Amino acid sequence: MPRHIVIALGDQLDRSSAAFDGFDAARDTVWMAEVAEESTHVWSHKARIAVFLAAMRHFRDALLRERIAVDYTELAITPRPQEPATLAAALAASLARLKKEQAGPEKLVVVEPGEWRVQEAVRAAAQAAGLPLEIRPDRHFFSSREEFAAHATGRKQLRLEYFYRPLREKFGVLMDDGEPAGGQWNYDAENRGAFPKTGPGKLPAPVRFAPDATTRGVLDLVNARFAKHPGSLAHFDWPVTPAHAQAALDDFLSHRLPLFGRYQDAIWTGEPWLYHSRLAQAMNMRLLDPRDVVAGAERAWRQGKAPLEAAEGFIRQVIGWREYVRGVYWQFMPEYLDRNALNAAMPLPNLYWTGDTDMNCLRDAVGQTLAYGYAHHIQRLMVTGLFALLFGVAPQRVHEWYLAVYVDAVEWVELPNTIGMSQFADGGVMASKPYCATGAYIDRMSNACKGCRYDPKQSTGPDACPFTTLYWDFLARHQKLLAKNQRMTMQLKNVGRKDAADLRAIRRQADAVRERLS
Ligand code: FAD
Ligand code: SF4
Repeated sequence: MPRHIVIALGDQLDRSSAAFDGFDAARDTVWMAEVAEESTHVWSHKARIAVFLAAMRHFRDALLRERIAVDYTELAITPRPQEPATLAAALAASLARLKKEQAGPEKLVVVEPGEWRVQEAVRAAAQAAGLPLEIRPDRHFFSSREEFAAHATGRKQLRLEYFYRPLREKFGVLMDDGEPAGGQWNYDAENRGAFPKTGPGKLPAPVRFAPDATTRGVLDLVNARFAKHPGSLAHFDWPVTPAHAQAALDDFLSHRLPLFGRYQDAIWTGEPWLYHSRLAQAMNMRLLDPRDVVAGAERAWRQGKAPLEAAEGFIRQVIGWREYVRGVYWQFMPEYLDRNALNAAMPLPNLYWTGDTDMNCLRDAVGQTLAYGYAHHIQRLMVTGLFALLFGVAPQRVHEWYLAVYVDAVEWVELPNTIGMSQFADGGVMASKPYCATGAYIDRMSNACKGCRYDPKQSTGPDACPFTTLYWDFLARHQKLLAKNQRMTMQLKNVGRKDAADLRAIRRQADAVRERLS
């Protein structure tokens, strides 16, 4: 008879988590389940489904090697009769079976689920089974949900900087005698360049993890059962064990961290990884501890292997943005999901699922997303996200796409980035102004416009770049609302200089773009 049922969710694959505190292998059982709904509630990319299932199976096998009992439900290629459709149903079925076979467990134990929907499902299942549920704190993060709530209380505006600096002080990250290393908190001025016209040159290829037998079994399952889902598994090489994740971290620190900051915002077509770490998926699934990631980057700088601006730029993403968005998520859920400050209502253009478009930048970003389940931050924010914002896509449709197509997509980090940072649908909680720009921004940061049939400088006419047309239309449409925002003054002044005939032509062309792509 199990004493505790310890629930390990697909993004909680951490043997040292609080769920295992006091674990008694003689009396406790770990419960894990693969359920179809987790792959279908948004129309998940095949690589996203595969990376979760493969990592879960490896975690299960590691527990079994430790002689820990694991109650594990595998998905089968052909759905079994009475297969539980949801996580709550799977848990309820297991608990009912346990009750029938023997006396039920004393209680259920889980670490704070990362997603509001899943937290509610686990609570409901425990209640339905009449069992106490102990929710333990998630030690993976540097800060707790409660600490963020305390930080947010009484503030008119939430800003990353005010959250990031105290965290660095508290954990002594990049600090020298109580001062920020190098005398500055932020080295953005030295970061965020574009590549020269000749391109990035030879880039260090990231370490790959060839699928083993367990992962190959998952790839076969996904290709068969989720055949109609977007994306491909042809290039699947993501880390699915803690050992892989550590090797991926070592590889990044040695080969890509030194130029991470300088080219953080650069885009180059056909080059999906550039100097990015590719570590979000491993961290989000708990295969990698963010403390090791941050310590590794700081060590690289202290040993002279990476410049300070690269280490700080990278550490800011992990101890700053990653913690901050989690705080925003839990502070404002569940109503955050429905925010729509700009009243955007268009459907998501189909090109997001196919990559079939004559816009070079979008074809490249969506194409690599479908091929690998990955795009780097600036592609997400300033290509796919920017286009959806300017097009006026309903933020919830944009959210469903981002949650579906990336291997690192989990709602607590995806939602604030999409609803807040990228679509400005939260009205300014995450970002102090909308990230809106013409095609000229993409031209400056990438080579995409060189080979494109559109001209980023033109807003009307047959060669007008759709980004540029939609940008002016966006400002004109939201002029009144954005006028309250001081940081928009310059951009609104520019649209104010356009005469009525220009604005009419832009509106006509923007309508035509929307009609063509809807
Ligand atoms: P790197 O560029 O190497 O950055 C290092 C690490 O910093 C990342 O691994 C990540 O853990 C963290 N990080 C960087 N930027 C952010 C950010 N804005 N918010 C939180 N953490 C950050 N990230 C996810 O992990 N999951 C998502 O579902 C997700 N959805 C996004 C949706 C949109 C619309 C946008 C604009 C961003 C999203 N991000 C998401 C943030 C960021 O784009 C990814 O973390 C990053 O691209 C992952 O690639 P990487 O590991 O190579 O990151
Ligand atoms: Fe994208 Fe416009 Fe540049 Fe073409 S011209 S690549 S559509 S920004």
